[in-house]
Amino acid sequence: MEKISRRSFANRLSTGMTGVALASAMPWACAMEGKKVQKKSLGIALVGLGSYSTYQLAPALQQTEYCHLAGIVTGTPAKEKRWATQYGLTEKDIFNYQNFDEIANNSEVDIVYVVLPNSMHAEFSIRAARAGKHVICEKPMATSVEECDAIINACQQAGVRLGVGYRLHSEPYTRRIKQYVREMTFGKTLYVTAEAAYRSTGSPGQWRLDKSLSGGGALMNMGVYAIQSAVYCTGQNPVSVSAQEFSTRPEYFKDTDETITAQFEFEGGAMANIMTSHNIWANNLKASCTDGWFELAPASSYGPLKGKTSAGILDFPHERQQKLQMDDFALHILEDKTNRAPGEMGKRDIIIVEAIYQSIEMGGKKIALDLGQLGLAGD
Ligand code: NAD
Repeated sequence: MEKISRRSFANRLSTGMTGVALASAMPWACAMEGKKVQKKSLGIALVGLGSYSTYQLAPALQQTEYCHLAGIVTGTPAKEKRWATQYGLTEKDIFNYQNFDEIANNSEVDIVYVVLPNSMHAEFSIRAARAGKHVICEKPMATSVEECDAIINACQQAGVRLGVGYRLHSEPYTRRIKQYVREMTFGKTLYVTAEAAYRSTGSPGQWRLDKSLSGGGALMNMGVYAIQSAVYCTGQNPVSVSAQEFSTRPEYFKDTDETITAQFEFEGGAMANIMTSHNIWANNLKASCTDGWFELAPASSYGPLKGKTSAGILDFPHERQQKLQMDDFALHILEDKTNRAPGEMGKRDIIIVEAIYQSIEMGGKKIALDLGQLGLAGD
């Protein structure tokens, strides 16, 4: 399988060899300036045909109303044939990591969805933007705030839209609790607990346990869900964080964090306590408010989620979260509807991730955060 190193990409970026001329993005720039896109359904190309693309995104794209699978980008030739047969793709819809920039010439592809190991998100999101395609970048958005900025800037310069693969913002239980917070149904949130964790027992060679590809361990992979919960259960960005790291299987987690706990403070006095781990099973959130409480358990898996409040049980019909998420992003482009998980939200979470790592390095010291309203939009 052909792999691209971060360094070779950085070299190509600096020599201007990556991507196609910005001019190719101009049709989209026009679309953004008022001329509505005429299509009824937008074409999505999936970059990276691993487990999430294969078992979640591609099946979801068979159910979406406003977007469809229009292309694939893979480093594994055997997958080209399999996917082409299964999804009726032709040669012009299939790219590899080397010729990816030619996707600019395929007008059937409107959105590029980057589903690669985390350290490759920035490279392919930037190349997609330069090819004039709207971008969905999987979570965590990137392995550093610097990379998040580079993605956001590239999308702005190309005049394309950018979303992060935070599917829960389109999911009905999560949307309901965000509504509770917005409308103060149970009063003001005082305290949140959120856990997003699973026990990893697979190959120690997997990319999620390799910092050069993942950017970090449990915190990067699952911790972003717990951070998200803390934010949407309070409706605020935290103003400080303190964090601790725990290691019980150092022989397995040689390169990445195993278990992390963190405490957030919010303006006005709310607090949150989160836990994320690659060693423990946990999947829930609970908010205690001045006039009641609400909780989800599970809170971050593919669903159906389950929810309870001090007023009763929540019950929503189940639909694939990825179907809802990709349709929402397509409607953001087609009809200017809300971008439920914009790039700034992904960047905000990586700022928090970096502060958590910094706190751990400093023995649990409280780190002040100045996030303002960054990434809070998206309801
Ligand atoms: P995966 O390991 O199943 O697939 C990774 C893909 O990247 C494979 O097709 C692999 O061939 C390709 N690849 C290219 N270069 C590689 C390299 N150097 N090393 C390893 N693989 C390489 O991973 P996945 O579970 O599909 O995750 C992909 C991305 O999607 C990650 O960023 C992950 O965080 C995200 N994800 C999001 C969700 C969600 O619910 N939003 C769920 C799962 C994964």
